[in-house]
Parts: sequence; structure tokens; C-alpha cells
Amino acid sequence: MKFHVLSIFPDFVLDVFNYGVVRRGVEAGLIEHAVHDLREYTTDRHRSTDDMPFGGGPGMVMRCEPIYAAVEAIRADHPSPLPLIYTSPAGEPFTQQMAEELAVGPDLLLLCGRYEGVDQRVLDNLVDREISLGDYVLSGGELPVMSLIDAVSRLVPGVVGDSQSVHQESFTSGLLDWPHYTRPENFRDLDVPEVLLSGHHANIDSWRAEQALIMTFRRRPELLSPEQLLRAKQILGL
Ligand code: SAM
Repeated sequence: MKFHVLSIFPDFVLDVFNYGVVRRGVEAGLIEHAVHDLREYTTDRHRSTDDMPFGGGPGMVMRCEPIYAAVEAIRADHPSPLPLIYTSPAGEPFTQQMAEELAVGPDLLLLCGRYEGVDQRVLDNLVDREISLGDYVLSGGELPVMSLIDAVSRLVPGVVGDSQSVHQESFTSGLLDWPHYTRPENFRDLDVPEVLLSGHHANIDSWRAEQALIMTFRRRPELLSPEQLLRAKQILGL
């Protein structure tokens, strides 16, 4: 899977490929990347990527010309179709299911916005998909793009050694994750639940399934089906 990224802060974005699971994916040759500096595609001597908004108002807007030039050049050099994703608060909400779909391919080109955002003509005519990382406003698209790359990379087959661990996580099953514990068994009078020390795998599995259901009921009940809601209430005696 190859990620192309287009940003005015390429060094910032590069860090996502230098740590943890994503780095292991890069080292294993499963994740490839090319981070492009949008300023390289400007033609004026100030290398400007933004300009004042028509109609007035505060803030600057990212210009069409360098973005079109960059996207066309990157696509011309790429051997397969390269959908352009723009992260924006106005996009469709990013979900684990979307990460799973994107991890299957094709390779992606991710555009990082800055200032007030990008000239609408880019969004209407060049961008294939707009994705939001949440209902809040960040100062740039680099962090959302890095989050998306992280979430997608760990789902690319082979990147996470034990594939079970990514398939047992929050949202994959429709539920939040169950609680996890590690040594010591007793820490400042706080015990690990007995069942986890029992070695009885069937009991451990059913405890975990119950805990995931209870966690989801308490924190994100809207994720549960009517049957799951009923079951959670039964377990809790409500
Ligand atoms: N004027 C925009 C608005 O009101 O929606 C906000 C622009 S924001 C300061 C600059 C850039 O950061 C955006 O163009 C987008 O690329 C990125 N960004 C900010 N918040 C985001 C979010 N929640 N999800 C995805 N991208 C975001």
C-alpha cells in the first residue's frame, strides 16, 4: 500500500512513518510513502500556496494552481489509479469500517488543508473523497492525514504480526474493547479479575464478551442492537 501525501509541512507528516507499527510496515515493504511539498509545485517567486478569499473575510484560502499541478504530476508518475482524499471537518466521518475498506487499496493521495481550507473548485473537480476525523477544527490537515495513515496501515495484511489483535479491537466487532490487565496480579490492593488468572479459555472468552457489551452499553449505547441492549441490561440486572 502506498500513501502519497501533499502538504506544506512535509517533514511533520513524515514522522508518522518513523514509529511503531507503521514503521514496521515500512521496514517490511508493506507500506510505502512519498510526502510531497506543495511549494515545489508553485510558479511564483514567493512560492505561495494561498491567497485572500474572494468576497472578503478573515483567513487565507489554498490556491487551485499548485494543487492541480501537484496532483497531475504525482498521478502521471504513479502506475495505478490514485484517488485523492481531502481531510476536512465537512467530510464523511472517519470510521474503523472505512479504514478497513481503504486498507484493501488502491494506493492513496492525501491532501492536507491549511488556513480556511482549499478553493472549492479543487474539492468539486479533483477530490474523490472528503473525510472528517471528528467534530472539531484543527489548524491543518496533517494530523488528520497522519491518523488516517496510522489507522489504515495497521489493517494492511501482515503489518500487525498477530492479525487477531487488530480484528478483536474496538468497533471491528461493533463493540468497544474489553478491559486489559497485565502483571502484577495485585497492585496497591487492586486485583486482576479472578477469571483472567483461571486459565479457563472458554470462561475468559465469555467474560471478555460480556465486558465488551457492558463497556459499550455504558459509553456508546447507540452502537448496540435492541437484542444487545436487552442482554446488557440483563447482565447488569437493570
Ligand atoms: N474553515 C474550515 C472549517 O470551518 O471547516 C476549517 C479549516 S482548518 C483551520 C484547516 C484544515 O485543517 C482544513 O482545511 C482541513 O484540511 C484540516 N482539518 C481541520 N479539522 C479537521 C477535521 N476535524 N477533520 C479533518 N480535517 C480537518
